[in-house]
Amino acid sequence: SIMPATLSAISNGAKHGILFKGGVHLENLSNLKAIAFDKTGTLTKGKPEVTDVIVRPDVDENEVLHKVASIENYSHHPLAQAIVQYVKKRDRTNPLLQPDSLEDVSGWGVKAALHGEDWKIGKADFVGAENARSFANDAGSKLAAEGKTIVFVQDPNGIAAILALKDTVRDITVDAIKLLRDQGLYTIMLTGDSEKTAKAIAEEAYVNQYIAECLPDMKVSELKKLKEQFNNVAMVGDGINDAPALATANVGIAMGEGTDVALETADVVLMKNDLSRISEAIQISKRMNRIIK
Ligand code: ADP
Ligand code: MG
Repeated sequence: SIMPATLSAISNGAKHGILFKGGVHLENLSNLKAIAFDKTGTLTKGKPEVTDVIVRPDVDENEVLHKVASIENYSHHPLAQAIVQYVKKRDRTNPLLQPDSLEDVSGWGVKAALHGEDWKIGKADFVGAENARSFANDAGSKLAAEGKTIVFVQDPNGIAAILALKDTVRDITVDAIKLLRDQGLYTIMLTGDSEKTAKAIAEEAYVNQYIAECLPDMKVSELKKLKEQFNNVAMVGDGINDAPALATANVGIAMGEGTDVALETADVVLMKNDLSRISEAIQISKRMNRIIK
């Protein structure tokens, strides 16, 4: 049976835009030691925009962008959608092409055959780190240090272009993280993004630590390590990719406007994507435990 103090905590949460899916999570929340956050869509708005395009000297910028959009049109990744929008806005008349075949590789990028040519779009290691690094050079490093994600484009002749995309940290993020840190919690950002980009965003978001180059299943193993280190760890996420990590954490917290899978897997849901509700949720759980004990 549910104790009156638990019921009152749950209803108090609801009034403050926090949905607790049961009493056990309140117990865990009250003595949380660390919180891991997904980057894209959680600490950031998850709506990246193309800011820079650099092409190989022999490549026509409009032509390569048209082909990139034709391929990314079939990927569900937020970067892909941002690229398609950007290209369609630049050129409203030229209809996108139909790839012969396509593979959306989660955490890495997309691979496609387009009019008989092999193309790859995604992170450096996906297109070949050596070539990627020598193409991106100082310009790429500078863009990454600004917190921009670099997307590499490979055509049959090598790296044809790089696109930089910038996502913005949510307005509430820094205040929400400060509140948690003031409560003595250790904060960590997990991301599939590159080291340099992750560092810049982590500094902007004011988290204690970041773990970059985190492939979808690595989020789970990193969480297991954090659980060993801190005993009681929450994970906050919004995406399908985050669901396994949400399930692994002592408390899984989903952004209210996140994907259905994240919402279903989580123990706690934040209405209106409001990260500052996390410290409120912890306070509610502490109050409840004082009443019970
Ligand atoms: P995050 O953890 O930041 O949400 P993901 O695990 O979804 O990132 O993806 C990791 C990285 O893989 C991206 O930062 C990007 O570099 C690359 N990537 C994945 N899918 C695509 C795509 N469709 N187009 C371009 N790059 C992609
Ligand atoms: Mg996300």
